[in-house]
Amino acid sequence: MKGILTNLSAITEEYDVIIAGGGPAGSAAAIAALRAGCTVLVVDRGIHPRQKVCGCCLAPAGIKVLAQLGASSVLDSAQKLSVVRLECGGQVMQMRREGGVAIARDELDESLLDFVVEHGGIVLMGSVASFDVDGSVVVRQDKIVRTIRSRVRIAADGLQGTSLDGISKFEWRVSKSSRMGFGATVDGAALDISREQILMSVHNGGYIGAVRLANGRIDIAAAAHPSVIRGAGGVAPLAAQWLGSHVSTTTKFAGEQWRGTPFLTRRRMQLSYEDVLVAGDASGYVEPFTGEGMSWALATGSAAGNHASAMILSSASSNQWPRIANRIVRSSRMRCLITAQLLRHPRLLRSVMHTSQFFPSLADRVASAFGSNIDTPAPSRIFTKLAP
Ligand SMILES: Cc1cc2nc3c(=O)[nH]c(=O)nc-3n(C[C@H](O)[C@H](O)[C@H](O)COP(=O)(O)OP(=O)(O)OC[C@H]3O[C@@H](n4cnc5c(N)ncnc54)[C@H](O)[C@@H]3O)c2cc1C
Repeated sequence: MKGILTNLSAITEEYDVIIAGGGPAGSAAAIAALRAGCTVLVVDRGIHPRQKVCGCCLAPAGIKVLAQLGASSVLDSAQKLSVVRLECGGQVMQMRREGGVAIARDELDESLLDFVVEHGGIVLMGSVASFDVDGSVVVRQDKIVRTIRSRVRIAADGLQGTSLDGISKFEWRVSKSSRMGFGATVDGAALDISREQILMSVHNGGYIGAVRLANGRIDIAAAAHPSVIRGAGGVAPLAAQWLGSHVSTTTKFAGEQWRGTPFLTRRRMQLSYEDVLVAGDASGYVEPFTGEGMSWALATGSAAGNHASAMILSSASSNQWPRIANRIVRSSRMRCLITAQLLRHPRLLRSVMHTSQFFPSLADRVASAFGSNIDTPAPSRIFTKLAP
């Protein structure tokens, strides 16, 4: 992490663009704004390596955004993916889905922030940013508090972000039937999954996914209704139960460091106001099942960085931002909402999986739920089979 700052006193007081959040959305926004010639500060409250609940599967659409930003090198060590194995009840369906990769989140986020620094951006970790109604950004680190100014502010601080808490227009609308996320990275021997495969297992009350990372460890991520987590006695026993026969007998999931998220399904009441643009998960989220959150974050982050530079260099206004942001994710969000409904009824999903053995076009539709958003790749070849 060469050049990344951890000392709040070391930064100057004015930038063209300040970004709260150094995840995929914040980094993409920073790279786009830097490429347009802006001075950029990214503030993140975490300290690397910081772990996140994420399935770690980057869809082709996200890979394409990174290429457009000239940042494909951050995926140099990623694991290629080619098959999705979907399980629900007794049904198993294997779908060929080429073009995506698996990459550990700490590794991706760190490489992206390194890239920002290499291209002239200032990255400050371990500091919390709060957007003030007066147009400034208050940055706090332990007992040090500084007020920094910019011409455009971008909130890219994810589902658990706090940068917009002081501006009431940006309140969340959270779905009452929402699920919570949880996950961990576990030893490579913990589960029986091959490289290049995404395992997705759907159950009453939620679903779980697992993928083998390039370093051999396994990332597990899940979404479940809180009552189901309580009923199972916690996230570790629930993960072991849902992953069933894939779990090696010697594994004790309880020993791993499990992390959680707040309620996932939510929408921000407003996506822009005066000099503020909202991007990535900070603008809203449906469900992680289709594995496209990082792609949405990269795409909307990159567009926010471009729009910020247009606000500075020409006459663009923040009022245009909600339309731009919604256009980027509209069709995939709709598909994600439909998939989310199907997931709430595993019996229906089971019959769809069963029927799709006989109707390849239906199987194609099921396959299209996985990671083929903003930029849909050519339809995959699909093969289905019943569980033994
Ligand atoms: C169970 C689960 C599985 C998932 N699986 C996948 C998957 O396989 N593929 C996929 O593409 N997506 C997946 N996602 C979604 C993906 O993780 C998110 O969409 C993605 O991380 C969003 O990126 P972001 O940059 O918007 O936010 P984040 O990655 O959340 O980054 C926000 C950053 O803001 C920082 N921050 C917060 N508040 C402040 C503040 N006030 N000041 C400064 N910094 C702050 C945080 O430290 C954080 O680093 C999954 C999500 C869940 C819950």
